[in-house]
Amino acid sequence: MVNICKKCGSNNIIMNGKQANGKQKYHCRTCGCYRTFGKDFFYSEEKKEEILRAYKERPSLRGLTRIFGVSKTTVISWLKKKSSN
Ligand SMILES: [Zn+2]
Repeated sequence: MVNICKKCGSNNIIMNGKQANGKQKYHCRTCGCYRTFGKDFFYSEEKKEEILRAYKERPSLRGLTRIFGVSKTTVISWLKKKSSN
């Protein structure tokens, strides 16, 4: 699974303990924020590839947001990472 920062879309994050209600907290080393995980933070590698494939066929971030419920910043950070490899 890929853990994604809700704020900046980076996956450069570390676990930062749990809140009293049991929710997992994280600290993002890219933007420096402290947040709580929600279900939309987790993507499998398969899902990620599927989304990137869909973007290749039809490069519409708005479309991806609607179809997959993925945030624009997340997709952009994946694309940046891919092109820098
Ligand atoms: Zn971040």
